[in-house]
Amino acid sequence: MGGSTISNDLEEISRSFSRFPRHGIVGAGHSPEIQMPELPEVETSRLGIAPWLEQQQVRKVTVRERRLRWPVPLDIDSKLPGSFIRSLRRRAKYLLFDTDAGTLMLHLGMSGSVRIIDPAEPAGKHDHVDIEVESGKALRFRDPRRFGSLLWTSDPEAHPLLKGLGPEPLMPGFDGRYLWEKARGRRIAIKQFIMNSGVVVGVGNIYASEALFLAGIHPKRRADRIALPRMTGLADTIRTVLKRAIVAGGTTLRDFHGGDGEPGYFSQELSAYGRDGLPCLVCKRPISVIVLGQRSTFYCMHCQK
Ligand SMILES: [Zn+2]
Repeated sequence: MGGSTISNDLEEISRSFSRFPRHGIVGAGHSPEIQMPELPEVETSRLGIAPWLEQQQVRKVTVRERRLRWPVPLDIDSKLPGSFIRSLRRRAKYLLFDTDAGTLMLHLGMSGSVRIIDPAEPAGKHDHVDIEVESGKALRFRDPRRFGSLLWTSDPEAHPLLKGLGPEPLMPGFDGRYLWEKARGRRIAIKQFIMNSGVVVGVGNIYASEALFLAGIHPKRRADRIALPRMTGLADTIRTVLKRAIVAGGTTLRDFHGGDGEPGYFSQELSAYGRDGLPCLVCKRPISVIVLGQRSTFYCMHCQK
């Protein structure tokens, strides 16, 4: 399977599910799309579970359901037990568990969540995988729709799902100059440009609308027609909206241990997304909604040029 095919499939699937109600996002307008874990939710998940797993030896792996987005490989059952989790990283929306034996790649898909439990806690219908560590705690992966995945690799950087990815938006190397240079000769709409994971990872539909609103850039503006100073502003607002969401998620960190809620999803205030017809926070005129690249796009036609 090629990486691009896999990514395209996932994008297609996510669109086909747009009729389902979303949850977790507080917006005053109506809710057009499902909310699925985006970069901030994945990063919050990482922060929530890492203290329980890093530097721990894996004692036992229980796979109750192998039919996820892709079949859970037997490597996970055979190689993970006995190995030490050296670090828990994130690349795009993948959680990477680096161990002595290889790297476990976990993707939350559309409805996945992780939490730390006592392994004696009975597993629910959608609790597909437990990874028990020496402390006696376990990581439990729940995924009602089963579009999440657990994969195994000896070389994450070369994995087809990861190797073509653009830079992390919150890491050095992502700035206005990078975006501006990457946009040369790209005639596509800026919103689709920043949502392309080959350009930059982790800018999902909600955050693209939010960042463009804050930067005052019209979502349909051609990527190659945006000057460097405005691209610098956009790179800044992309970072701002993602960081703000991670901070909002920080209030849910305790939910990752115990409880039976849905950790990883959290409420946040949004400026444009989901607010069609409601007054723009800047000019008070109504926010518009259009469909761009088959995704709902919210903007102010007066403030965004
Ligand atoms: Zn406005």
